[in-house]
Amino acid sequence: MALYACDEDDYIYAASAEPAKEYWCIECFGTVKVRRGKDRFPHFYHTQASPRCRLYSKSEDHLVAQLQLQNLFPPGELRIEQPFLPINRVADLCWEKEKLIFEIQCSKLEVPEAESRIRDYRTAGYNVVWLLDDRLYNRKNLRPSEEFLREHISYFFHLKHSKYYDQFEIFADNKRVKKGKPLYINLQRPIPMRPPDSDLLPKQIQRRVQNTSKYFLGDRIDRAFQPPFALILENWRVLEIHLAKKYKKPSRWVLWLNRHLLQPYLNLLNRIAVWMD
Ligand SMILES: [Zn+2]
Repeated sequence: MALYACDEDDYIYAASAEPAKEYWCIECFGTVKVRRGKDRFPHFYHTQASPRCRLYSKSEDHLVAQLQLQNLFPPGELRIEQPFLPINRVADLCWEKEKLIFEIQCSKLEVPEAESRIRDYRTAGYNVVWLLDDRLYNRKNLRPSEEFLREHISYFFHLKHSKYYDQFEIFADNKRVKKGKPLYINLQRPIPMRPPDSDLLPKQIQRRVQNTSKYFLGDRIDRAFQPPFALILENWRVLEIHLAKKYKKPSRWVLWLNRHLLQPYLNLLNRIAVWMD
């Protein structure tokens, strides 16, 4: 479902669309019509299945999240479902003034798709800010793309309370083995990235600094630049080192030794003990 569609010569918002009239999807150009209901806001639906269209697979929660974010900003500041024809993309929300794209993720995402979306928007001159629905993301088990996205500008959101937050966290063995409390952020306050003063920063800060050109007031990077948080950062740096050791997998050489020497030796000892009984 989508909030905008193409009319003969313009984009039209679902609330202004005529019932039963056929419009065109701004992404796949399939036929769409408007749907209105007592308990739902107006949106366009595809009259035929179009599984490859990203707007087709958007859930109602996705549209709600788009509108919630737009409402945080002054009217006209964020444009919903902004088409980028040269790269064949439709951005969830575009903040033209800051050259930022907000991509809302309420469904699973593969790493190659995340990479190509970041790359495509970069060629168009925009940076992507990922907003991950915490009913699907920020769980104990990591989703495949989550580790990748968290090294870029990405935050979690809580749809019901319309809250956007970052957090300190440590991943190991495809799991989130440690996370800090939510750090609520102000999405209206992007700050240009600058090189950090210290080399002794947690890896999660170093990686994100390399991958992004902006951060937001209140997020992990913002904390890293503030002297009162030095002790907290040091704590996370030490935790990262400690947990990396704890979850480190044995090398192939150690596994080989274990399999071909240690285990046969233990089996032999076991047999001798049984024989001597
Ligand atoms: Zn479509």
